Amino acid sequence: MVNEEVVELAQKLVALPSVNPEHTDQPDIADEYRVANFLAEYLETRGFDISWDRMTPERGSVIASHGPAQPAHTLLLEAHLDTVGVADMIIPPFDPTIKDGRLYGRGACDTKGPMAAALTALTPQVLNALAEAGVRVLFIGALGEEKGNLGAERLVEKGVGADTAIILEPTDLSVVYAHKGALWYELVVTGEAAHGSDPDRGTNAIFAMARVLHWLETRIREEQARAETADLSGPTLNVGRIDGGVAMNIVAHRCRIEVDRRMVPGEDAEAILSEVRTMLSEMQERGEIRSFEMNVLKVGAPFQTAKDSKLVRGFRQVLSEADCEPRLATAAWYSDAGAFARTCKELIVFGPGSIHQAHTVDEYIELNQLVKGRNVLERYFDWFARNWRSG
Ligand SMILES: [Zn+2]
Repeated sequence: MVNEEVVELAQKLVALPSVNPEHTDQPDIADEYRVANFLAEYLETRGFDISWDRMTPERGSVIASHGPAQPAHTLLLEAHLDTVGVADMIIPPFDPTIKDGRLYGRGACDTKGPMAAALTALTPQVLNALAEAGVRVLFIGALGEEKGNLGAERLVEKGVGADTAIILEPTDLSVVYAHKGALWYELVVTGEAAHGSDPDRGTNAIFAMARVLHWLETRIREEQARAETADLSGPTLNVGRIDGGVAMNIVAHRCRIEVDRRMVPGEDAEAILSEVRTMLSEMQERGEIRSFEMNVLKVGAPFQTAKDSKLVRGFRQVLSEADCEPRLATAAWYSDAGAFARTCKELIVFGPGSIHQAHTVDEYIELNQLVKGRNVLERYFDWFARNWRSG
């Protein structure tokens, strides 16, 4: 099994450091260019046309396409190029090691293993069959997923999308057809300082924030009760940090919180933020605060593809034929699928490897799952070439 092409390719990808620059200060392992250049060359020799979306000379996303210029259908495969940092790892991060049926190294499971599975599944026969069926294949290696989905967001802004899309992440070979979106923001309210012995002369920002917190908590309960999301267990809100005030005997003039709001399909970040803004403006009008500030730190949209969509049905059928359990799943984590949902009609997240091994100090992928994942993808591409036209 060690000689399988997919294993060799996964090893090569792991050996090319591509740590997200926000996760390291070591230039010799930072940025995506090593893996991006390798990917571009690999796909070019297999007949793909290559274009780039470059942010800096060291950071670019690869957009490779194969098939008819006037396609009847487009199939997008996407894997992010970057990995998280390696600071506390207890294995050599870039010296891919095979032991006990596992491939160890940073990115082995998130997401160089899944990337290798899809690349090797695109055999010359599969690519021919897809092209003959009128399908254009887009293979995207996106930069910066591990910090704000930067590469995917840039591509989506430029209109890169497709009819059908598979986002390659370790899902344990489950078909992830929906995940939540993430909205992170910071709120600051200001009051007016005064001596603690005469609080009525000031405006206490901590008391004001307590009212904001009460409002947020009440509101999320209402939203949870209203949301029709049997699949994704409703929206959530967490206030993860609070700070404010100066000393016990001074009326606090400032208080700040950090909010992590997880969204379900149908919710819109702008609408959520605007409601919070209205509530704060009303507090300001009533003199309960002097001013407020709201800083959005991240907006990632949720996505959901219908369970009876052709993509999900096709994948389940292929999984059964490949003797894998045809499992459907939803996820609380976030991926580039949130961005690509805006430009792709149907999409899923799929790949070999477990999310529990992603970002760990001894990251690995099970070799038999890597090989299985590759085989399922090859079968699916073949199925797709024969079936995409039919109902
Ligand atoms: Zn990932």
